Amino acid sequence: MTEQIKETTYTKPIPFKTIDNAPYWDAADAHHLVLQKCTDCGQYAHPPGPACSHCGSQNVIWEDQGTEIFGEIYSYVISYRPFLPGYTMEDCPLVIAVVKLKEQDITIIGNVLNCEPTDIAIGKPVQMIWETINEERAIPQWQLV
Ligand SMILES: [Zn+2]
Repeated sequence: MTEQIKETTYTKPIPFKTIDNAPYWDAADAHHLVLQKCTDCGQYAHPPGPACSHCGSQNVIWEDQGTEIFGEIYSYVISYRPFLPGYTMEDCPLVIAVVKLKEQDITIIGNVLNCEPTDIAIGKPVQMIWETINEERAIPQWQLV
């Protein structure tokens, strides 16, 4: 019996799915954003967890936000040195941004792709894009709009 092993060229860390965050990553794999929302206080919670991060309620649901996700850069760092396994100097400079979503009162961290570090500033508008990393997985990232 031979076992087929899928080869991938993606060597960086792949986000691990847990019982709490699997719906988020499953949606990301389909290039969608879903967010955890509390049915008691009405707040969105991100990153997701076993209970609402605002009021502690366990009455949380997943709400589809679609594929047109916009926000603005709330904060950022620019990495000029690879510091995680799988990253090389060719990945640098790497823009890592905290993005405040336009429609929802949460922030999501991601890389701002396809830009020069000098183009980045707090308050600049960005759109979520999904970086396909292998046959099964995709990661939410950002690009300037
Ligand atoms: Zn709540």
